[in-house]
Amino acid sequence: MSEEENIEARELILDVLADPIVENLSFTMGRWSIRPSMYQKVSDAIVEGKISVIVTNSLLNANAQARYVHEEKFNSNTVFDVICLRRATLGHTRSERIKMAGVIVHECTHAGTDLLALGSMTHLENEMLSYIAHYSVIWASLEQLNARPAESTHNSARARAAWKIAEQVYNNQPISRWSILELSTSILTDPLYARGMFTDSENDGVGRPWIIN
Ligand SMILES: [Zn+2]
Repeated sequence: MSEEENIEARELILDVLADPIVENLSFTMGRWSIRPSMYQKVSDAIVEGKISVIVTNSLLNANAQARYVHEEKFNSNTVFDVICLRRATLGHTRSERIKMAGVIVHECTHAGTDLLALGSMTHLENEMLSYIAHYSVIWASLEQLNARPAESTHNSARARAAWKIAEQVYNNQPISRWSILELSTSILTDPLYARGMFTDSENDGVGRPWIIN
């Protein structure tokens, strides 16, 4: 991690959020609605330093490319409201770039629900909203390239469930209850999300100063 890399990563996230696909991302899942204004607020909070961006491996799970951190020990400090990226780049191939933009929108969705202080949202709902945003962005990117997203296949049950919902979001259809059930089941049966999924997310706003020791 260097300060230069952090600045590059911040610019990268701001670029992703400024993409017209994200500026038009809008959907409702149960009692929660995600609107483009949320991503605009995340952008503003990044510019204002209320949400930090750092390039690091140490706060990421082995296979993760990114993570939104609400509160965590980092070195000897306690950090709040941070988007962590493994690298300050979307990747080299078109496919890598589209996927990574989806991952960034996923983490920015976690950041956005925290920023808006959406209380009484379970970790499961939070994760579902993030996966829907994540795959909806990928779906729309493939549509833009005439790359036939309907013909894409996915290995994980979670991706397959989110992909079906992404099609509904792209077509401005209400998300079916069956798809919501499939997505929630796929998350709950993943060991990565084994614990605490029915407890409330820590959505309490952003901008808390880090505790530097
Ligand atoms: Zn997530």
